[in-house]
Amino acid sequence: MRLILNYMNKFEALGLSEAIIKAVDEMGFETPSEVQEKAIPILLDEDTDIVALAQTGTGKTAAFGFPLIEKVDSDSRITQGLILSPTRELCLQITNELKNYSKFVKGLRTVAVYGGASIHDQSKEIKRGAQIIVATPGRMQDMINRKMVDISNIGYCVLDEADEMLNMGFYEDITAILSHTPEDKSTWLFSATMPREVSTIAKRFMHDPVEITVGHKNTGSENVSHEYYVVNSRDRYAALKRLSDANPDIFSVIFCRTKRDTQKVAESLIEDGYNAAALHGDLSQNQRDLVMKSFRNRQIQMLVATDVAARGIDVNDITHVINYQLPDEIETYTHRSGRTGRAGKNGVSMVIVSKSELRKIKTVERIIKKKFEEKEIPSGEEICQVQLFHLANDIAKAEIDHEIDSYLPSINEVLKDFSKEELIKKFFSVEFSRFHNYYKKAKDLNAAGESRGDSRRSDGSTRYFINIGEKDGFDWMRLKDFLKETLDLGRDAVSRVDVKESFSFFNTDSEHQDNILAIFEDFKLEGRKVNVEISKDSGRSRGGGRRGRDNNGGGFKGKRRSDGFKPKGKGRRDNDSGGDRGGSGRRDRRKRSDRR
Ligand code: ADP
Ligand code: MG
Repeated sequence: MRLILNYMNKFEALGLSEAIIKAVDEMGFETPSEVQEKAIPILLDEDTDIVALAQTGTGKTAAFGFPLIEKVDSDSRITQGLILSPTRELCLQITNELKNYSKFVKGLRTVAVYGGASIHDQSKEIKRGAQIIVATPGRMQDMINRKMVDISNIGYCVLDEADEMLNMGFYEDITAILSHTPEDKSTWLFSATMPREVSTIAKRFMHDPVEITVGHKNTGSENVSHEYYVVNSRDRYAALKRLSDANPDIFSVIFCRTKRDTQKVAESLIEDGYNAAALHGDLSQNQRDLVMKSFRNRQIQMLVATDVAARGIDVNDITHVINYQLPDEIETYTHRSGRTGRAGKNGVSMVIVSKSELRKIKTVERIIKKKFEEKEIPSGEEICQVQLFHLANDIAKAEIDHEIDSYLPSINEVLKDFSKEELIKKFFSVEFSRFHNYYKKAKDLNAAGESRGDSRRSDGSTRYFINIGEKDGFDWMRLKDFLKETLDLGRDAVSRVDVKESFSFFNTDSEHQDNILAIFEDFKLEGRKVNVEISKDSGRSRGGGRRGRDNNGGGFKGKRRSDGFKPKGKGRRDNDSGGDRGGSGRRDRRKRSDRR
């Protein structure tokens, strides 16, 4: 009894009321996290603005959620608190958490407002009375414009994951929304990082905010070990599969830089027999909910996600975070690796890098103040061993299905001449031989030696020929914009654009090569087929445009073999050919039509 009281006192000591303490107890929270300990007493005590910086997984939701619930008057139906959050998933997650926290607070209603679902249903929900609204900025703006919501009386506005909201370009929306709120409300800003845009918001909209910083030492990063694997860019996908195969119980989030890569990697994994799914912004609300549900239920082992879609998502027991590519912003790496190693568990953050990106690892190390371990992609043999023992363990642990009892006599008859040893060997041969045969001949993927002389340049970039030019209305700026847009690449990803009369050249990082060739495999511009091919010219040598088509044409068309064998049942197929598109490029065409 005393012990229990002691635990409860830790939250009570923060000044929380009985209703919340009861909920805290039910949720099994024992000690307040650092950000909770620092923020809650201040927010309960005074009506002040606050800027709280804390990494993901540090319990920020309760840090603002508890005081907000305490502050609002649940007898009044007026909207008193507004929480803005960057994505639908987070919006729903926060709403759920708040509902749990306020389970014993009578009459309190929290309503979620986000795009991709019926605005009228949400409006109805609000009309029924919502003291707290949790919203994404876009939808909130929409509802304000349609007079479906009244936030002119709110006392508290929370900006959650402020850095991410600003990253996503919500600055205008946020300022517009704030302009509909009373001047004398309190603004609580929570963020993992403090880029300039966040301090601008703080300066512009907050009055003398209390500042709280929770040190880097949070449970998230403390329990995460960081590893990197150096491979050739074209082996990225094969490496991903090996890493997964070497960890049969993997429960992971795989981060890609673009929606396109996310979709592509997920599709390839699914086709290769893995329990994988994609999570990115082009999916409908419904699709995303389903994906998250299956992931939480463990029906999905590998969630391939964009940073934005996965931001702040709280799923326990993720064993591995895999950086399929390093993010552009190093801070993003912290967010990614924070998905694992939560709640005292250990986690691994793996990075697949090409040689040209190695220096980035050093930068990340400096910023996260942790050392990476350089590791080797496991060999086929190692993976076979791991899988074999895993299978043996599974068999040892399996519960016996007595349905088969009646067939036993006849099965016994068939197998009667074999010893236990022989039976085991035979069993494993049947179950395992295809896996084994495949990996037996698998090559070493570690890019230790010199690059194997392909079209990639020593500076890690690839030069392309494209059959559009000035006569199609392009100058270098227009072409650059067109390429960035079409290829869905970042600001500086396309370089050395050289526009000629009827064709042009450009460079990108070699890692985009396969992707780019795939995109242009069947691409039309105003009815005309656009051809992109890899140029032998590095783009460094003296001006002089090389003439058209004498480059090493076509690059990939149908050359890659997919040596994958058909999966038996729902087992994994073990296609390690690196050929994430088999032959025809069918899949890439299909995807392209999905592009917005
Ligand atoms: P953040 O917003 O900082 O990323 P969350 O608020 O999403 O973190 O919290 C991460 C997880 O930790 C959630 O599952 C939450 O329920 C849990 N949690 C929060 N506070 C505590 C606590 N004091 N004790 C135990 N678990 C907690
Ligand atoms: Mg959060």
